[in-house]
Amino acid sequence: MAGFLCVISGPSGVGKGTIVQEIMSLRDDLELSISVTTRYKRPGEVDGKDYSFVSVADFDKMKEEKLLLEDAIVHNNKYGTPRAFVEEKIKEGKIVILEIDVQGAKQIKENFDNAVFVFVLPPRMKDIEDRLIKRGTEDENKIKLRMKNASRELESITMYDYFLLNDEIEDATRRLNKFLSDERKLRKND
Ligand code: 5GP
Repeated sequence: MAGFLCVISGPSGVGKGTIVQEIMSLRDDLELSISVTTRYKRPGEVDGKDYSFVSVADFDKMKEEKLLLEDAIVHNNKYGTPRAFVEEKIKEGKIVILEIDVQGAKQIKENFDNAVFVFVLPPRMKDIEDRLIKRGTEDENKIKLRMKNASRELESITMYDYFLLNDEIEDATRRLNKFLSDERKLRKND
């Protein structure tokens, strides 16, 4: 069975993280890539589970040594996808989930065959601002920056294969599950 990459993007606060958590518990043919980041660790986040939290120097070294499949600066912090894990799991036939921004998605599109691209949308733009305020992990300035970036990210959605409206977590996860099964089938016929 051929493995492939599934890139999931969407504006901050749209609920990508929850959808990813849910889909991971629904299927046993998925692996989640853990990104490296220079961002500060939020309360409750676990190093090596949510992200690998690294210094800027270590991040730059990984990039220089070509250990990252893609990387980007998002909301003033550096993020990147470790290459080795992705390549190993795809060889094992897994669908590897990358929850990354549009800049990273573009790099994957240019450099990696056979990936599928999913963009998560809110039913209403204001919802994502409300969610960020409710989440309480970012101050007002950071929320403004994330809202500005959200508008910019939406300009890139034509490069995605699937749009996932996050109206209700359970429905959105069910639809994502169907997209992944459809993509599996398509690849079987190749
Ligand atoms: P957060 O700081 O809220 O966890 O993530 C901020 C943004 O960075 C999100 O849009 C998320 O998808 C993106 N992101 C997380 N990891 C990576 C990565 O490895 N590469 C890229 N390009 N973006 C990432």
